[in-house]
This record gives sequence, C-alpha cells and structure tokens, in this order.
Amino acid sequence: MARDYYGTLGVAKNATPDEIKRAYRKLARQLHPDVNPNEEARFKEVTAAYEVLSDPKKRQVVDLGGDPLEPGGGGGMRDPFAGFGLGDIMDAFFGAGGGGGRGPRSRVQPGSDALIRLSMTLEECAAGASRELTVDTAILCDRCVGSGCAEGSSPVRCDTCGGRGEVQSVQRSFLGQVVTARPCPVCRGLGEVIPDPCQQCAGEGRVRSRRTISVQIPAGVAEGMRVRLAGQGEVGPGGGPAGDLYVEVEEVPHEIFERDGANLHCSIRIPMTTAALGAVLPLQTLDGEEELEIEPGTQPNTELVLTGRGMPRLRSSGRIDGRGDLHVHLEVVTPAKLDARQVELLRELAVLRGEDEPTLAHNGKGVGGLFSRLRSGRNHR
Ligand SMILES: [Zn+2]
Ligand SMILES: [Zn+2]
Repeated sequence: MARDYYGTLGVAKNATPDEIKRAYRKLARQLHPDVNPNEEARFKEVTAAYEVLSDPKKRQVVDLGGDPLEPGGGGGMRDPFAGFGLGDIMDAFFGAGGGGGRGPRSRVQPGSDALIRLSMTLEECAAGASRELTVDTAILCDRCVGSGCAEGSSPVRCDTCGGRGEVQSVQRSFLGQVVTARPCPVCRGLGEVIPDPCQQCAGEGRVRSRRTISVQIPAGVAEGMRVRLAGQGEVGPGGGPAGDLYVEVEEVPHEIFERDGANLHCSIRIPMTTAALGAVLPLQTLDGEEELEIEPGTQPNTELVLTGRGMPRLRSSGRIDGRGDLHVHLEVVTPAKLDARQVELLRELAVLRGEDEPTLAHNGKGVGGLFSRLRSGRNHR
C-alpha cells in the first residue's frame, strides 16, 4: 500500500511546493534528533515524505497512486525505513545516477559518518564503560532549520542555468557539433541560489558544534571494535540527515596481562625452592587478588590455567558468552650469588639426593622431552 506522504506532512494534495517546504520545516523544527531524540523515526518519515513531495517526478508517482520509495513503485527506491541506512537512501535520491534523470541536484545532502577513538584500559574492556565524549560535528542550524535562508526569504531560481543546474556549451569540430553539459558554476548545480543567506550558517544549513554525549561501551570489547551511535555523526549540507558516529576502542596495553581474544596470559617468577617445596601465593587477577597454588615439585615452564578468569567473551550478536581463562606461566629462577653457607647446604642436599656427581642424562625424545614439549605446547595442569 502506498504511504500517505501528504498526511505525514499534514498538507493538502494540491499543496504548492512552497507550502510543502514550510510544512516540512515546521515539523523538522519539532522532530529533528538534535532537538528531540525520541522522534527520530518520525523525523525520518517526515524527511522521506518531503524528499518525495518536493521532487516533481516522485510527487507525480504519488499522485498516480504509486509509491516512489517502494521497489517497483515507480522510482525503484529501497524502503527508507528498513534498517538504519537512511544515508544510503539519500544516496539513492541524490547520488550520481541515483535518479537516472538530469536536473538540479538537491541542496540537502546526507551527512557523513564520524569516528572517535576511545582509549580504554584492559579492566574497562572487561567490565564495559560509560563515558562522556566531547564530539565536534556539524549540527542543524537552529536559526534557519537547514534552509540556509535568512528569516522570511527563500531560494530563487538561478538565472544562469534557468534552474536546470547545468549549463551547456556547444563546440564545433570537424565531426560536427559537440554539446557538453557541466554543473552550473553560479548555483553549483543546485538550480537555485539563496539571495539572502542565513547569518548563522552562511547558507550552509548547518553549523559546527561541540557537544558532550554519553556512550555505553559493552563488556568484552577489544582493540579496533566500534560502537555505532546512529544519527550522531555529521549533519549534511542543507541540514540533511546526520551520519552515524562510530566510537572505536583503543586498548591500552596492560602491564601484567597479555590478551589473546578472551584469554589472558601472565608470567610469574618463583624461586627454585618455592618450585620444589610448593606454596600458596597471592596472584592479581581481573577479579582482584586470588590464591595461586603452586604444588611441590613444580617444573619450569609450567602453565597453570585459571578457568573463567579471562575476559568476557563478546559474541557478534552483542551477547556475553562466558569468560575466557587466565593462563599463568611459571618461570623457575635458579639461585645465583650463593654465600658460603648456602653453598654448603646445597652441596649437602645434592649428596642426600645422590646428585653430587651428576652425569649428563639424555632425555631422549620421549614423554617430557624437549621435542614433545615443543610439539604439544607447554605442560598443562
Ligand atoms: Zn545555476
Ligand atoms: Zn542557518
């Protein structure tokens, strides 16, 4: 069923282009996301209605009972309400070749996306964060609400191109006449000029503004991930719909933990005596200090795995699916710089263990050997 574009703008079917423009401006003033974030859907609807009714060709489709925004409805356009891609829709309206026909291009253009990088610690990536961001983007000029005209004035047809937006030149060559068309240099292809521009935006319909917005970064994000804030990007020329704002995570390297997806790795050094005798040591984890149990007889390069002590696993659906693990790599430190008493004790130990006259014992290539360890990674407990 065709949408009721006239009803959306609240104008009669025989409304003049000027009445349609005034109706749209009045509604845009109330509904623009910068003024009224809750009315974004209606703003898009109203904007779409305006884009249709302000285009004589599309308005004709509507008047014939069709819908220029419906596939096969006369314009071959996509549904502007599917998904968030209003920018794409506006491209379809205004982009080169989008409409197929010639004629002036619209002064209203979709805005571009903006990108902000946000530095986050590993702890913040794990827990998620709420941040206030200062963004500097183009916003709708509130004085002219995008029209670019001073109060009480409106654009007039460009005399140079007669409103067509392009000028033609004819050259004679030995092949005959060559007619070339190029955008009108006076109106820049718009077909109209603003004789009395808005003082605040100099006719641009938008102004730069710095504002603070708050953003929620979900738990489990990692370097390079982006959070999209729909409609918070740059407002386009002529007050066109804003692009999106992307907040990209920049993960600050942690001094203890190294991250591998949802898993964390850390490396600790323990004295030989601790490795031999065993101990319970405090270990810093994302969840605070925990007790790490080192069993008697722990070998160098042992890796202990603390299940569920890694990062939240963030799925592409946005859901958290459990947590990764914390891998603790144990390095055993052999004592150096022994004093006489320590040497004496170690020699006595060696004698007691029958290690006072060591020979080189080849480990072979069997279990526990260097090669099998290299093949299988490290020892897991
Ligand atoms: Zn012109
Ligand atoms: Zn203005």
